Amino acid sequence: MIKRSFLGLIKPSLHYNALGASVTELEHIPAPLATVLLLPSSQRKNAARLLKTGDSVKTGQRLFSADGVDEFIVSPVSGTITAIEAFVGSFGKTYDKITIDVAKTETFDAGIDLLKKAPSAVTLQNLLRGLPGDLPVEALTSTRVRVNTIVVTCAETDLQVATNQTTVKTRIDDIKEGVKILKKAANVPHLSLIVPSHLKNEVASVGLNTKTVGGKYPSADYKLLMKEVFGTIVPAGKTCEEMGTLFISAEAVANVGRAYKTGTLPVNKLITVVNKSGVKKMALARIGTSVKEVLAHFNITVNEGDRVIFGGPMKGNAIFSLDHPILGDTDGIIVQDKKDVPAVSDYPCINCGECVRICPAHLPVNLLVRFLEAGQYEEAQIMYDLDSCIECGLCSYVCVSKMPVFQYITLGKHELAKTRSVEANHA
Ligand code: SF4
Ligand code: SF4
Repeated sequence: MIKRSFLGLIKPSLHYNALGASVTELEHIPAPLATVLLLPSSQRKNAARLLKTGDSVKTGQRLFSADGVDEFIVSPVSGTITAIEAFVGSFGKTYDKITIDVAKTETFDAGIDLLKKAPSAVTLQNLLRGLPGDLPVEALTSTRVRVNTIVVTCAETDLQVATNQTTVKTRIDDIKEGVKILKKAANVPHLSLIVPSHLKNEVASVGLNTKTVGGKYPSADYKLLMKEVFGTIVPAGKTCEEMGTLFISAEAVANVGRAYKTGTLPVNKLITVVNKSGVKKMALARIGTSVKEVLAHFNITVNEGDRVIFGGPMKGNAIFSLDHPILGDTDGIIVQDKKDVPAVSDYPCINCGECVRICPAHLPVNLLVRFLEAGQYEEAQIMYDLDSCIECGLCSYVCVSKMPVFQYITLGKHELAKTRSVEANHA
């Protein structure tokens, strides 16, 4: 039987991808002639766009969508803007999709020189936002949360991907340097490290308090780690950051180290590419490279009905355009043949209880899903504790009726967050 998740017919395994002694050779995707960047535009509302076609952009330049907004991205390239279009991402999040023709000669924004000065959280926030590995910069400078522990995680966030493990195997000196920089910049008293048990020896030289995690999914989930490894329960509706702990991926830490060591912006993202036969390759692609170019490099064709997933099979999102750019958090690209795409049914829940038995948050998913299907998100939260879901996707994976349970859950959480944000703004 085909189970409900993006795993499809690729051999189902609920264990993280464990890299062996050797690392698959890294394929370098050629730098693209044109780069696409996604600049959040929701704050712009009725204000005029700040950027226009024909504008020159420097590497390291902060790009804002309008005057007075604080959302921005840092350009990983130099060149000329040739197109700006509206783009709608997951859950209706709006962006300006900016196409930049990459210049032959790179020019650098003066802000890059901050990397030659003493590290600070503000520099991380202003310059290293969106860098490969997705450094969670907001939490480092936020006045809303007070981080007292940083956890460098060398484990993966989803099945099949191997980004953090590959970083450990190939860039341990960058990780060490990144840890030193974070200690200085973030002024956080405690740093520790999480590593899959098979890589424990590789990280010994980093010199941090190290905890190991097993290979069974979803043991490396941050909220589960907080409970099982650090003995702190994250209450429903709270984040790990709000409990004082910030998880940062090994790749992000390595890139912080590399940025300060070289005085340049790291711009190459490490991606696990899985083809239709389930064969995995590791690739390095510049941020802003299109998925089309990455797949062409591996001779992977996408036909009508095939599915392309960003991220891993349990938590990833299907993308609808091969022009979608590689982003700082694109750990995986999985291509599924249409015959392997798991079917979604409109069968009702038969109350078999499979989802309840597997849920690591011990939620009554069979009841939750009834309210979510009906769009009754408040009720789902109040009566069945939707906020306690850790978003592992296991309920969808086991659902015998092939219901898109996880999709209902993520949509429900998104709608609740939107309502709360509107209420907070009117309070
Ligand atoms: S995604 Fe499903 S299985 Fe995972 S915690 Fe949430 S409800 Fe439970
Ligand atoms: S696994 Fe699917 S069919 Fe079974 S109780 Fe859960 S939602 Fe219902």
